[in-house]
Amino acid sequence: MTVETADALDQDRSGDLSHSQELNPWLAAEARFEEAATRLGLDEGLAKVLRTPSKEIIVHIPVQLDDGRLEVFTGYRVQHSIARGPSKGGIRFAPDVTLDEVRALAAWMTWKCAVVNIPFGGAKGGVICDPMLLSEGELERITRRYTAELIDFLGPERDVPAPDMNTNEQTMAWVMDTYSMHMRHTVTAVVTGKPLDLGGSRGRPEATGRGCMMVTLQALKRFGLTPSSTRVVVQGFGNVGGMAAKLMNEIGFKIITVIEVDGAVLNPKGIDIPALIEHRRETGSILDFPGAENIDAGEAMFLDCDVLLPAAKENVITSQNAHKIRARILCEGANGPTTPLADAVLADHGVFVIPDILANAGGVTVSYFEWVQDRQGFFWNEDLVNARLEELMVSNFDHVVSYAEKHAVNNRIAAYMLAIDRVAFALKLRGIYA
Ligand code: NAD
Repeated sequence: MTVETADALDQDRSGDLSHSQELNPWLAAEARFEEAATRLGLDEGLAKVLRTPSKEIIVHIPVQLDDGRLEVFTGYRVQHSIARGPSKGGIRFAPDVTLDEVRALAAWMTWKCAVVNIPFGGAKGGVICDPMLLSEGELERITRRYTAELIDFLGPERDVPAPDMNTNEQTMAWVMDTYSMHMRHTVTAVVTGKPLDLGGSRGRPEATGRGCMMVTLQALKRFGLTPSSTRVVVQGFGNVGGMAAKLMNEIGFKIITVIEVDGAVLNPKGIDIPALIEHRRETGSILDFPGAENIDAGEAMFLDCDVLLPAAKENVITSQNAHKIRARILCEGANGPTTPLADAVLADHGVFVIPDILANAGGVTVSYFEWVQDRQGFFWNEDLVNARLEELMVSNFDHVVSYAEKHAVNNRIAAYMLAIDRVAFALKLRGIYA
């Protein structure tokens, strides 16, 4: 196990970003942090603490493969901040996981939890592996050994993982079980995003998409739009995008385009989303759907629309293409879909941005509810979960937007300023333990 010091990170800090740097998630997060901290007039020492992750843990985990061979996988867990409570953040499995990426996502989680004012800091984890090439048994052994290596760093009061890219409810059940075996009793609150039967929360699978819808509804009011007069383009038809599209469709939004890895479909009158979900289930693709026409995925994001909801991956809106966006509202379902250089272009074009740390915070908010319910041992019905989610999403949307107006900054910088201010305040109250 290696725990890196902050010195190495300091070398990565930079002022203006080049085009290649804008795609580096750590530098992208840093750029937003620096701007927000400067505008806040944050004390340099506090800024140093807040921009540096609290812990970076690297584990090399030996796992026996199904054919008997022994393989060693590398995993990371970065705990960015515990100033406001236990750190919180997903675990992803992917061949291209890097420490920079995990570090950026951990910091993002700190700001995201602070924006919606829930009592967590930020963390993120990842294992470099290709889940497509691994059996269920191999994935289980990776998950359990990764959890066991991190056992001293996890816990309901320490660090609470959740699913992320290529991990799911089952992965969380394995983490929970492994942790519980070491603790000698069942500890459901050590992870969120668990199956309902193991202490999961009602409404969690829908929460991120539902949160995107809630903040979009708030934004519509500013444009005098109603759902039925609003045309939406959704990129990524997975958990976030698919759920947001389904829920928005239910209340009358016109989802005119859905973009996926293999292509895009368009119906200017609005796509029947449940039928598209069914079509994809049957054929494995959104293409050739009878209720829409296939269109070029490369251009679909730049269609004339009211709301663009990127919900696939990071860095899809960059300095190279931001000028082509024709949406009035950009609701960032994905983490980091827009680079810092693109922010300026969008601002010039008057696009109303609902930044990722606010727009997609519905997931971590209901994760917080799951953690609360596990600790209470008392479970809420779905209406209560959704009502409490709405309360937090709407009030914090209003906070961010009025903060932006008051301080004449864009919504993203306002969200960062609010978040940084909240974490810095907690840090000051606690003081630095010598
Ligand atoms: P997912 O894997 O369920 O869905 C992503 C979808 O995007 C997939 O269907 C994939 O085929 C598609 N996709 C990938 N690349 C694409 C591309 N270039 N163009 C179009 N489509 C593409 O993942 P998810 O859980 O929905 O997460 C999506 C994004 O939202 C990620 O950035 C994730 O970090 C973020 N996010 C997720 C949650 C959550 O609760 N799931 C919460 C907050 C943020």
